Amino acid sequence: MTPLPDHDWPELLPGWVWLCGAGPGDPGLLTLHALNALRQADIVVYDALVSEALLAWAPQAKHVYAGKRGGKPSAQQRDISLSLVEHARAGRRVLRLKGGDPFVFGRGGEEAQTLVQHGVPIRIIPGITAGIGGLAYAGIPVTHRDINQSVTFVTGHDQSGEAPLSLDWEAISRASPVIVIYMGMKHIRPIAAALRAAGRPASEPVAVVTTATLDGQQVLETTLGTVEADIATAALEPPAIICVGRAALMRQALDWQALATGAGPRNLDPLDLGRPAESA
Ligand code: SAH
Repeated sequence: MTPLPDHDWPELLPGWVWLCGAGPGDPGLLTLHALNALRQADIVVYDALVSEALLAWAPQAKHVYAGKRGGKPSAQQRDISLSLVEHARAGRRVLRLKGGDPFVFGRGGEEAQTLVQHGVPIRIIPGITAGIGGLAYAGIPVTHRDINQSVTFVTGHDQSGEAPLSLDWEAISRASPVIVIYMGMKHIRPIAAALRAAGRPASEPVAVVTTATLDGQQVLETTLGTVEADIATAALEPPAIICVGRAALMRQALDWQALATGAGPRNLDPLDLGRPAESA
């Protein structure tokens, strides 16, 4: 096995749980702390969106699947948290591996809280979240000086799995030129309607990035008015990150995966500024 670079790496001690982000999919987006954890774990408890390829990097460990998808009741969540407590109390080196970043729409905070409440020592290892890294793989910067000074991350469903209509869409819409939606596929119709009602135009650019950073990555470029129909036509499936706002236009210039195949940029000035990017 390739050794880790020289550094004073922390030791995953028996009885500890490390709550770790696995990144959005591409194994190369794992952090070195996560790799260090994979090398030492006795048991890896992983979620649905964690790439199988990563588990192969912990051949010595037992791999336990703890996935739940799409807004199921969270009775199961408590079982997962308590099983982590049990593994720790049994003296195992426990790695809890979650997709993206463990503290971004991943219930990592809840699991960590349960562990702390039970006196289990923890370490948190952040990861690259899909709403940033996944969009970057599609050539979409979540902030860009000519577009936005703020960005809002929202979840596409509430605790019970329903559309998040309790969100203050008007406030979000007013304050945030770029809105990044996680888990938004199921309820894209009410979400798009809420944004329209909050004043965002039908022509607002939208990008839908599915299976971001992995081989099956697909990107749909559409608008708020047509996003629902276009998702259906393209038969896109979750997981998907949905980016609402002019950031989505930047892909016309920055689709680096297409550029790498030799294609020219579609549009060098997607924001129609009529000047070089750095001249502001
Ligand atoms: N903690 C995770 C998010 C978990 S919620 C993170 O930080 O990324 C699950 C949602 O994340 C999915 O419904 C989808 O919206 C998004 N997601 C995670 N991985 C993704 C991927 N590879 N491509 C597109 N969306 C992804």
